[in-house]
Amino acid sequence: MLNFELMLGLYIHIPFCSAICNYCNFNRGLFDAALKEQYVAALRREIALHADGTPADTIYFGGGTPSLLEPAEIEAVIRTCRAGFSVTADAEVTLEANPETVTVERLAAFRQAGITRVSFGVQSFRDDELRRLSRLHSAARAADAFAMARHAGFDNISLDLMMWLPQQTIPEWLQSVDALIGLAPEHASLYILELYPNAPLREAMARGQWSLAPDDDAADMYLEAMARLDAAGYQQYEISNVARPGRESRHNLKYWTDGEWLGFGCGAHSTRRAVRWKNLSSTTEYIAAVASAGPLVAERRPLSPREALEEALFTGLRLTRGIDVNTVKDRYGVDVSDIYRHQLEPFLEAGVLIYDGRLLRLSRAGMLLANEVMARLLPPPPKLPRDLARAQTAKAGNSPVVD
Ligand code: SF4
Repeated sequence: MLNFELMLGLYIHIPFCSAICNYCNFNRGLFDAALKEQYVAALRREIALHADGTPADTIYFGGGTPSLLEPAEIEAVIRTCRAGFSVTADAEVTLEANPETVTVERLAAFRQAGITRVSFGVQSFRDDELRRLSRLHSAARAADAFAMARHAGFDNISLDLMMWLPQQTIPEWLQSVDALIGLAPEHASLYILELYPNAPLREAMARGQWSLAPDDDAADMYLEAMARLDAAGYQQYEISNVARPGRESRHNLKYWTDGEWLGFGCGAHSTRRAVRWKNLSSTTEYIAAVASAGPLVAERRPLSPREALEEALFTGLRLTRGIDVNTVKDRYGVDVSDIYRHQLEPFLEAGVLIYDGRLLRLSRAGMLLANEVMARLLPPPPKLPRDLARAQTAKAGNSPVVD
């Protein structure tokens, strides 16, 4: 049997949103029904271009807001994937969804279309925080969306929350964590809000005189949230991600375990056979390029063995299980515990890193210092796809996770 980490993951980027959130730095634009139709047709053509029958066990619709597509469109894209790749019968097929876009009927139709897992962008279970983030849904709508997904038959649901929001206190953050635990999803992602330089949220913060809690509070938010999720039976498997046993995101694990994936759609990244490439970012340029059979790829570069090794270490250290030094040796021919010995020693002594002779991992407290550890071990990472970048880009200092 093939190991799932050795099978391809297929990422499908859907760049449309009903409104643009004031903190968002993703590749997205406003929904346009006509453009969406052309885009779905282009996506299917691009997928068919790469079709080579390779086994794949995950399909991930990310965005943007993929739940703005019609179930028939999702079904058609999945069908194209299945026609072009050997998608396993038990493949994990995830749809990112915004709570305000779903109904029981739509969710049931998505399930019928082949979606097996729904990931809701909740961000907060407090209405004041959601308003500050200019989100379109309320806390009640998020809880309703979750109930609708259960009603539609989904038994694999993930909820995203963001912490260290403007004006957020530790108890307010924990209120959202407790609300999430109360719903009992199979998976949860907790990110720290990242304020990119020109984010409209920065202006809103200045106008509203909203401030961020001190850095130490961000660390406490993270540690207390993880402690509550532990107590509720979740297992942390990555710096920002927890799951019920066996419900880890199989797709995202490919990014963190040196796997391979093909990304389709505007701005999508792919990594395969030690080559990384990125599609044109603009939705209209992407559609035009597919239509004219012109070049779709904006950047392409082979990963040198050293880059591939460093990236395997960088991503592997984000997993709670850490890096298997023997596996790295088999794959890259280097003994990490030996070549990085001097850099590792102070972290091992401080309990930031733990090494048992085979697995090298960050302690939970060490996860708060993940960026510092990685910066000392490795040069800055290359540009990475959204899910990976979101999970990997930590704020300078002690912030473990971002959105
Ligand atoms: S945060 Fe999500 S829903 Fe909001 S604009 Fe960005 S991609 Fe769209």
